[in-house]
Amino acid sequence: MAGLATQAFDSLPPHQKSFLRSLPKAELHAHLNGCIPLDCLIKLALDASKSDGPQPPLVREALQILKAGLNLNRIEDGFKLFPAIYHITSTPKAIALATSAVLDFFLEPTSPGVPPQCVYMELRTTPRSTPHMSRKEYLSVVLGEVVKRGGKASLIVSIDRRMSPQDVAECISLAIHFRNSGQPIVGIDLCGNPLSGNMKAFHTLMDAARDAQLPLTAHIAESERNTAQDTAEILSWSPRRLGHATFLDADAVLKVSREKIPIEICLSSNLVSKTVESLSAHHLRSWLELGHPVIICTDDTLLFKTNLVAEYALLLARPPLGLGFEEEEIRRIAQMGFRYRFHESRKTWNAVQKIARFKN
Ligand code: 5GP
Repeated sequence: MAGLATQAFDSLPPHQKSFLRSLPKAELHAHLNGCIPLDCLIKLALDASKSDGPQPPLVREALQILKAGLNLNRIEDGFKLFPAIYHITSTPKAIALATSAVLDFFLEPTSPGVPPQCVYMELRTTPRSTPHMSRKEYLSVVLGEVVKRGGKASLIVSIDRRMSPQDVAECISLAIHFRNSGQPIVGIDLCGNPLSGNMKAFHTLMDAARDAQLPLTAHIAESERNTAQDTAEILSWSPRRLGHATFLDADAVLKVSREKIPIEICLSSNLVSKTVESLSAHHLRSWLELGHPVIICTDDTLLFKTNLVAEYALLLARPPLGLGFEEEEIRRIAQMGFRYRFHESRKTWNAVQKIARFKN
């Protein structure tokens, strides 16, 4: 079953398809374990069953749901699939293969003569300890794959809202440690079930990440049940980008627009998760009308059966399949992906370090 964005892409005439394919794009909001190509995940599950015995029901059911396509009632339902995916990617070998497949999916041509979906990506993932590896080993394996892509890929370290402050501290320390040893870590992300956790408990830790020159992107106001206090707390961390920002209250809208904090927009994700009723009701349009920076992203290509070219097709296709934007407007939107990437802070940080070493 094709996703909504794929249907929009399929509706386009050939010249518009090639316009979208050849448009240089940057992917800034993609979760590693949410973007594993389905055939890769199935193969990893099979490999695991060869060494560990029959697949647990959790894994069998999740694979069936993913093959059929998700039918969510609320955003929290999507999170129920991650325990099964995590079961499959719990070894260093599996997470290395998964990372490599995700990077190929975004950065390599899908077939001869067809450009890759994007020319640069900031992949994000939550450092996870399993019976087979520590958080440090997890990050080291993922980074080992990211560095192979040269300057085309960087990593953002995700903090899950359910983590204890001790776990958050460990993840931020690891991010600083790897970044200081020259690894391509460019920022910190706040993600996870939007209704979980007490964000006040993370305040000092997020300040510490910022002080260490790791910019923050935060999922914010993703659910209508997120409170204005939760939103205000996250904004008090001075995030450099925001994910979704679907249900910002009036004060938050004012702050975000005054400070021009770019918003990562994931259209298919919002539609499938039913946090936005329809494309025409999506908040993207009103932010663009304000001249506010936005970046078009995929979020979880595995869950939402999408890809970055197809997300752009949702901008270009005629209503009701798409928003009917002009090519020139879409070109301008794509450029924002490069303008607001964290990659530049990596360059600045390297320069600061070089100067510091020279001074010492
Ligand atoms: P990982 O960080 O393990 O590579 O990617 C999966 C994780 O990303 C999930 O467990 C969840 O915490 C986070 N995630 C994926 N999609 C979303 C989303 O749409 N919203 C939020 N808040 N978190 C997400």
